[in-house]
This record gives sequence, C-alpha cells and structure tokens, in this order.
Amino acid sequence: DLPLSLSDTIVALSTPPGAGAIALVRLSGPRAIAITDEVFHGKRLAEQPGHTLHYGTLRDGAQVLDEVVVSLYRGPNSYTREDVVEISTHGSDYIVRQVLALLLRHGARLAEAGEFTKRAFLHGALDLAQAEAVADLIAADSALSHQVALRQMRGGFSRELRELRGQLVHFAALLELELDFGEEDVEFADRTGLVVLLQQVQALVRRLLRSFELGNVIKNGVTTVIAGRPNAGKSTLLNALLNEDRAIVSEVAGTTRDLIEDEVSIEGIRFRFVDTAGLRDTTDVVEAMGVERTRQRVQQAALVLYLFDLTTTLPAELQAEVEALNLPAGVGVLAVGNKLDLASEAQAAPFRPRPDTLLLAAGPGIGIEELRAALLARVRLAGLDQTGASTIVTNLRHARSLEQADRHLDAVLVGLSTNGGTELLAADLRHALNALGQITGEISSDDLLTSIFTQFCIGK
Ligand code: GDP
Ligand code: ZN
Repeated sequence: DLPLSLSDTIVALSTPPGAGAIALVRLSGPRAIAITDEVFHGKRLAEQPGHTLHYGTLRDGAQVLDEVVVSLYRGPNSYTREDVVEISTHGSDYIVRQVLALLLRHGARLAEAGEFTKRAFLHGALDLAQAEAVADLIAADSALSHQVALRQMRGGFSRELRELRGQLVHFAALLELELDFGEEDVEFADRTGLVVLLQQVQALVRRLLRSFELGNVIKNGVTTVIAGRPNAGKSTLLNALLNEDRAIVSEVAGTTRDLIEDEVSIEGIRFRFVDTAGLRDTTDVVEAMGVERTRQRVQQAALVLYLFDLTTTLPAELQAEVEALNLPAGVGVLAVGNKLDLASEAQAAPFRPRPDTLLLAAGPGIGIEELRAALLARVRLAGLDQTGASTIVTNLRHARSLEQADRHLDAVLVGLSTNGGTELLAADLRHALNALGQITGEISSDDLLTSIFTQFCIGK
C-alpha cells in the first residue's frame, strides 16, 4: 500500500531555497550513481568507493552548469540505506533549477516530502518514532526541544519499548500456542511471569504518558496570557520580558486593542506571551472585540499572569477580578502587582505575604528576573523535575497509542486476575501489542508468527 516505489531514484534540494554559499542536491536510489555519472565530469563515480568526495563540473551537453563537489555514499552505508549522492553546488536558485532539471531529464524523479526519511524507515535504518523525531529535530527551536528530539532520533524510548514489547510478543505466542492445543488443560504461558511483565510494561507506558504533558510544553511552549485592567502595565511588562519594544505602550487607557503575542525562551522552555486588551466593560466596538478575544484567549491559556496596579488596587478587588476571569480548572494564575516603584508601603504591604502574588515594577524593570523564575517554577511543578530521565514523549500520535496500550494492558491484567479465558486474554494482548507496535512502526501480525516459528519447532 506504499505510494512510492523504491526502484525509483529520487532527487531533491536538501538545503533551503534562496541564495546561499552552497546548495545541496541529494539523490537516493538504485541509479543515483549512474545518473550522476552521466552529467558529472570528474572521476567516474561508479568506480569510486563510498564515503568519498569528488570535485568536478556538472555539464548539460557541452555547457558547464557549475563547479561542484560530489559526496558519494554506497548503500547500505547511507542515510536511506540506498546509494546516495549529494551534490554541493553554488547556492543560487538558478543553478539549482538547472541542476534539478538536468537530473530529472536523466531519469531521477522529484522526491516527495519526507521521502528520504521514509526510505530510511522502509529500509529499517530508523523506526517510526525515530523518523518522526527527525522532523521534530529540524523544527526544534529551543535547546530543550532540540535535546529531546535528538535523543528520540538516536533511539530514545524506542529501544526500551521494543524490548518490553518483544517479551510480550513471546507471551502472546505462548497463549496462541495454548489455543492451538484446543480445550486440553495446557498452560505454556506462566501466568505469574506474565503479570510481572505486564506491570512492567504498563509502568513504562504510564511514565511515558506522564512525560507527554511536559513534552507538549517543550515542543509547543506554554501559552501565558497577560491580563489585567487597562493601564496596569501589561504592555510594559511584555516589553520587559521580551527586552524590546514590541507592544505599544501608551498613557491612554485601552490602547492595546489587539492581542500581541511573542515568545520568550526561559531555560529552554518557550513561553508564548499574549498581551491582551484590558478586561473591562467598554462602549468602543473595536475595543470590545479585543476584550471578547481576551476572554476567549484566557480560557485557552495554560497560565494567566494577572497584572494589577498596586497604587490603585485593593486586595478584595484583586480577588474579585481574578474570580471574574472564570478560569477553567487546570489553568494556573499568577497575580503580579505592578508599579512597585510608585506604591507606598501601605499599598504594597497587604499583598506581600501571598504565595501566588509577585510584586515588581515593569517600567524600571525591577523584579523581572524573579518573575522569570516564578514562571519556570510553574512548569517545574508540572513535571520538569523528571526530565533528568531519558525519555520524554512529545508526539501526539505516540501519546494516543500509549493511551490505547494502557487500556488494553488493563484489560489483560483484569482478565488474568479473574481467570478469564485464554481466547480473550490473547485478543486483549494482541490489541496492546498493536498499540505499542504502532509507535515504533513494527506492528504487523507477522510478529506473532515469526515468534512462534523461531522459538518452537511446531512442525505443523
Ligand atoms: P496596559 O494598558 O496594561 O498595557 O498598560 P501599559 O503597559 O500601556 O502601561 C500604562 C502606563 O503605566 C504607561 O504609562 C507605563 O509607562 C506605565 N507603567 C507601566 N509599568 C510601570 C511601572 O512599573 N512603574 C511606573 N512608574 N509606571 C509604569
Ligand atoms: Zn497594553
């Protein structure tokens, strides 16, 4: 059911389009070397060993297109496991177009999106989870998301998952064998051993599921809404966090009509800050739209930073305003008292002993570091302390499969504790194996058969 044919030789520009010092055109497939030989003037590549570099010219008939360096990889010692040629040309769109057109005329086909990695997977160089991590790695834009993707690409939780799944396959095979023997009272599969293994697998599955919450934060960032009355200093605070003048700061109440979003990376965690129009009743239609959007946005936030002006806000008012936000469960609130530089001690004192309240002065930039630390602490509470562990799930597909696996493992465990029939046990176990196998892409019903045939000489 694969739309692509591995007998094709594919070609694509592997560096971003546009002018640059170098552009890299990559070929992969059975005729990668032969096609390049037809247009490359230098050493004959067919006679060269893999992992070598060759200088020469690319020619379209008599016309020289460019001076290039060719890297030669012979399968299976290449990214895709096929013969791969990488041509480094000068980085101009014009040259790249000419080179691609030339290679297409000589029999290559344009690669589909992700096709090199797809081929690496089809040839077994990577499992699915690793292949997906390649995409994550390319998209990674913080130190932490990069680290997590790199770890996964290099094996990450795949290995652990595959190993435990392999042991489960063994048990499943034994259960199938019992079924083959029919109604007689044969038990090949040691039930106690099975329970221990199931619990081990489920512990891993649940640990991975818990890590997904944090993985999601690492990959997608934490949406943090900055809300508060007009003139509380929201735009000023956002600017202080961003260290630049992105938002419009104004003396007139109600100036920030639109939502302004920006991202700040604090120790590798991306916080997506949303500055909002002031939350208040207004007769201005444009502004009212902003207020409405604020209410919506606040509902979707992971964290709300509620900013208030210390010189104009009483504790009871703050409490009422935060309650009025009507936040769904799970959305955290951090109250931030602003304009500490203007506030009298009598105004600031009532807010000081509160654990969820921070006092600062966004204008002169006092207390911003403390705010960053408080934001980070919020995420740490959500599980960052466990990142020391090697495995973090960031992929929604993996999380879904893990949830399925968890449910089916439950069913198997219940079946075992209630002495359920072997038939049902085997079926539940198969479902769990399928869910787990979907993560790494090893799912196929051949699994069971192979396991039976390699471990037992049934001779049927
Ligand atoms: P917003 O409507 O909540 O976005 O408020 P702005 O960020 O536009 O700020 C409103 C006014 O308060 C501006 O004149 C700011 O310069 C001023 N302001 C903001 N933060 C501080 C602060 O910490 N100290 C002082 N003295 N003024 C501030
Ligand atoms: Zn503003």
